[in-house]
Amino acid sequence: MAGSSMRVGDVEIIAVQDSHFPCPTNVGFPSVAKETWEQLAPDVAATGVAQLTIGCFAVRAPGMTVVVDTGIGPAGAPGFGIGPGRLPDALKEAGIAPEDVDAVLITHLHIDHVGWNARLENGVAIPTFPRARYYFGRRDYEFFTAADQIEGSAFLKVQAVPLVEQGRAELYDAETRLGGTITLIATPGHTPGHATVGIASGDEHGFILGDVAHHPAQVGNPGIRAGFDADGEEAQRSREALWERLTSLGAKVAAGHFPPPGFGRVVLTEGRRLWQAL
Ligand SMILES: [Zn+2]
Repeated sequence: MAGSSMRVGDVEIIAVQDSHFPCPTNVGFPSVAKETWEQLAPDVAATGVAQLTIGCFAVRAPGMTVVVDTGIGPAGAPGFGIGPGRLPDALKEAGIAPEDVDAVLITHLHIDHVGWNARLENGVAIPTFPRARYYFGRRDYEFFTAADQIEGSAFLKVQAVPLVEQGRAELYDAETRLGGTITLIATPGHTPGHATVGIASGDEHGFILGDVAHHPAQVGNPGIRAGFDADGEEAQRSREALWERLTSLGAKVAAGHFPPPGFGRVVLTEGRRLWQAL
């Protein structure tokens, strides 16, 4: 499919869409005024719905194949209007089999980012990617699996906890490197341990965003906060700092919740930052 992959030096980033989330703005962005949407995204203002992709990315780096986030999973989230995910089929269409994957990088432990990590068979969690190491942010893991939190994120009892108990997971801290080209970079706020995936190869830079932003309008106005942010103020600081970094590096960007395939750049035009889709 044209436009579904992007190169950063020797690294290929492939967009693999899992599902789609028609997100009512009063749920997803409750603090954002209609006038703000009218300025930056008239379609959202007109409908009251932000059309969010549930997107994942496969990364072919020298010596390793990586999946970044695993979507909503096979059941979808009917209560949110999110249909069943199709990540394994999308990977197959890209020529990637589950056993090809060396590492699964999870930007944060929300339900729409871990859905295909594992499946239950006779009460046992079986990893979707049989050879892969699964990377979870240590701060997210400790926060969401604490005794007083886990029932609010019960899906983690299948999608994260057993993988840690089976010795298949790594709990990463800020600025963790994988191979020669990939770095997990702390961008907290949306969740306590949220990370962005940085890629550097040759003289090119690429970033896979996770939920630093859910909609391109947040490039022009980083003050647009998502209702799902654990700490909206910290999330905004992470977003502003990242936009500055992306602009100064001239980086290519892959954003999982943006319109597919989610590839673009953050450009500075006449003093304003804008999302420029590739
Ligand atoms: Zn998300």
